[in-house]
Amino acid sequence: MHIEIATLFPEMCEAVLGESIVGRARKAGKISVHCRQIREYTQDKHRRVDDTPYGGGMGMVMQCEPIYNCYNAVCEELGTKPHTIYMSPKGSIFDQQKAIELSQMDNILIVCGHYEGVDQRVINKIVDEEISIGDYVLTGGELPACVVADAVARMCPGVLSDDVCFTDESIYSGLLEYPQYTRPEVWEGDAVPPVLLTGHHKNIQQWRMEQSIALTEQRRPDLLAKYREKSDQK
Ligand code: SAM
Repeated sequence: MHIEIATLFPEMCEAVLGESIVGRARKAGKISVHCRQIREYTQDKHRRVDDTPYGGGMGMVMQCEPIYNCYNAVCEELGTKPHTIYMSPKGSIFDQQKAIELSQMDNILIVCGHYEGVDQRVINKIVDEEISIGDYVLTGGELPACVVADAVARMCPGVLSDDVCFTDESIYSGLLEYPQYTRPEVWEGDAVPPVLLTGHHKNIQQWRMEQSIALTEQRRPDLLAKYREKSDQK
């Protein structure tokens, strides 16, 4: 899978996506990420990429031309049109299902807005979908793009050591995950639940399932209802 990110702050995305599991997966060639500086694609001699909004109002709007030129360069280099996403608080809310869907694509291009956003005409021209990471407004699309890229990358083959690493987790499994413990056995007088020390696989599985259900019922009754509905259909 190949992820392109078009941004005015490529260093921000590189800083996040060059580290840890995603950084290692890139080095190992399991996925590739290319962060492009939109400013490289402007014809303006001062490398300007934004202007004041028509109709008045605060702030600056990112212009069509640099983003469109950047998009065309990506298409040309890839030899195909990537699935193009604009990160926006007006988009549909990102979730695990969307991450799974995107991880099955060969190429995605994520466009990051900044300031007041992006001229609508280039959104209309190149964007397949707008995605929001939640009902709040950030200063730019870089953190949202990193959130999407990370969630998508970790589901690509070979990025995690085993598929169980993501199928067995909160949300993906349909439930919130059971509590996790590691050494020492007793910390500050608080002992690890005894069943986890028995080595009895079946009892451990059962305890984990009970914990998952209780936690999901308490915190996310909406998820539990969906989970039960699905289980009843099987
Ligand atoms: N004027 C825009 C509006 O009211 O919808 C908000 C612009 S915001 C300050 C600047 C950029 O940050 C947006 O163009 C978008 O790329 C990004 N952004 C901000 N909040 C976001 C969110 N919740 N999800 C995804 N992208 C977001």
